[in-house]
Amino acid sequence: MFNFASGPGQLPAEVLKRAQAEMLNWHGSGLSVLEMPFSSDEYREIAASATSDLRKLLNLPVDYHILFLQGGAYAHFALLAMNLMGNIAAADYIQTGHWSGRAIHEARRYGRINIAASAEPAGFNRIPPFAEWRLDPAAAYCHITTNETANGVQFHWLPDTGDVPLVADMTSDFLARQLDVSRFGLVYASAQKNVGPAGLTIVIIRDSLLDQCLDITPAVFNYGLQASSNSRINTPPIYSVYMAGLIFTWLLDMGGLTAVERRNKQKADRLYAAIDADSFYLCPVVPTDRSQMNVCFHLSDPSLKIEFLNQAEKQGLLNLKGHGVTGGIRASLYNAMPPEGVDALIGFMQDFSAGHSTLR
Ligand SMILES: *Cc1c(COP(=O)(O)O)cnc(C)c1O
Repeated sequence: MFNFASGPGQLPAEVLKRAQAEMLNWHGSGLSVLEMPFSSDEYREIAASATSDLRKLLNLPVDYHILFLQGGAYAHFALLAMNLMGNIAAADYIQTGHWSGRAIHEARRYGRINIAASAEPAGFNRIPPFAEWRLDPAAAYCHITTNETANGVQFHWLPDTGDVPLVADMTSDFLARQLDVSRFGLVYASAQKNVGPAGLTIVIIRDSLLDQCLDITPAVFNYGLQASSNSRINTPPIYSVYMAGLIFTWLLDMGGLTAVERRNKQKADRLYAAIDADSFYLCPVVPTDRSQMNVCFHLSDPSLKIEFLNQAEKQGLLNLKGHGVTGGIRASLYNAMPPEGVDALIGFMQDFSAGHSTLR
């Protein structure tokens, strides 16, 4: 079976097996991680090693804090605005698809939102080129969505926003490629796309931004308070932090983000090449801005979609249905998707196309 779901997504079998082996008795403690007090030495050790492994993976500069929070990226669309708009109640947003649209909608409650660039007129089939951006030099921050999970577009370059901190929703491509966090004031990601099970939202924030929250910010979502309390103001999502920690170890063992990026690029390149080689399939996204994580495409005859999905499922290729707003087919190729899964999908697509072309 290969699970192409956009999220929660496929997890590495090795990691699931390790979690299974440790389920009833974590490291001789006699406890399952599921039943540990969050103030225990055991959980502190789990959180500390997850934090230090994530720092290692990212080569994270010392002036950044890693927070393990709840709420999901959708909650943090509002929470990051509350945390960053205390001094200047204005922010720039780049609208590149479904999720940046949600982020804009949530942030509007807390300040003036300037949509500095939008790919909406182009049907979200590209990232707006930097020359088109109309940035506000006095904004509290500039927000981008590095990978649009529903639309299949991804940034393959980073803007220079000068003194305005760059903030990024990286939910669907966090740890999928090399990342220089020093280019950002804040990055955040729900875990369940590429980093582990649902329930955990990772926020990485530059220390100089920890003191600009609105007074209405709830304590458990106050990034500054959580930074000074090791993300333990209230009960953290303990098991999800533990699972994310196992993923960090798995990524380090794989050779870190350079190796991960190389593998992900090869997987995506192969699938896009197969789509472009056959007019039976069609990818609407411009080649330079295509997502390496969520490959979105259509059948040139959309009436065959249900049959495509049913036959794929019979062959163990699961959850290929596109997002509700975009339709079509979507193959999510997160870190845990092995190259063999992509090969199986390409083989199926070629057979399906050949089978239907002879009928026409
Ligand atoms: C899935 C997703 C979200 C929403 O995540 P939740 O955990 O459901 O809040 C936000 N942004 C992006 C880019 C996503 O892919």
